[in-house]
Amino acid sequence: MEKWMNIGKSFEEILRPQSYPLAVKLVKDESEFLERTKIIYFPFISDALKIEDCDIALIEGCISNEKEIPLLKKIRKNAKKVYALGSCAAFGGILSLSNSIIAEPISSYIEIEGIIPGCPPPIKLFGNLLIRLIENKEIKLSEKNMCASCPLREGVEINLTNEINKINPNLEEINLDDESKECFLKRGILCLGPITRDGCEYKCIEYGIPCEGCMGPVSKDFTSNIINLLSLIHFSEDIQYYKGLFYRFSRPKIKW
Ligand code: SF4
Ligand code: SF4
Repeated sequence: MEKWMNIGKSFEEILRPQSYPLAVKLVKDESEFLERTKIIYFPFISDALKIEDCDIALIEGCISNEKEIPLLKKIRKNAKKVYALGSCAAFGGILSLSNSIIAEPISSYIEIEGIIPGCPPPIKLFGNLLIRLIENKEIKLSEKNMCASCPLREGVEINLTNEINKINPNLEEINLDDESKECFLKRGILCLGPITRDGCEYKCIEYGIPCEGCMGPVSKDFTSNIINLLSLIHFSEDIQYYKGLFYRFSRPKIKW
């Protein structure tokens, strides 16, 4: 420990933050991602300890320790563009449900250019957005909800009179080959598809489990979206007092 603490003199040389940044410089006239970028800081794979000037910084993880804030601000100062990578950096994530830890999205402390949500961000979406970033283009996320692309969406817009009495299907209900599967909400199982941003290609639903909302709110007006959903569904008494059902990945007060 002592040896480790003596390695560097300055703050950023000794701190491995909970929030992990990837900082890259763009290199012109090459076709492949790795050839078009130079990774200048990425604690997972590189020993570089200084965060230099960079074109793009992708920051992963929420901020839960005030010691991380100076490093975050330094990255902001040195990067032309900063994006929150993953739902913890974008929305605070699961840790923000804690009663004992204050976990904030990075946008609580610095201006950011955008978010790449998901827990983890879906591979295809991440790849497509990275390509846009290195081509110096804006990144755009879907403005539709998960139900828009969900294969179980048929009939979901009808009045949902079924009582929602489960937050997960039983094991025997997870039958991937069953082609007669219906929307989870119609089966009385809570699915956050109606209030969650599309873009993961309905990953969980394909595996027979409902959406828990890791892509985050489809709009900034998350609380209104939740109220609208609650006006359509009827919770059974035993699950209506569960906390954190809607905010598992995204606290209601979101800035980005
Ligand atoms: S509520 Fe869930 S299962 Fe139903 S259509 Fe939307 S995403 Fe699919
Ligand atoms: S279905 Fe929902 S919880 Fe699952 S990966 Fe997609 S957004 Fe995340």
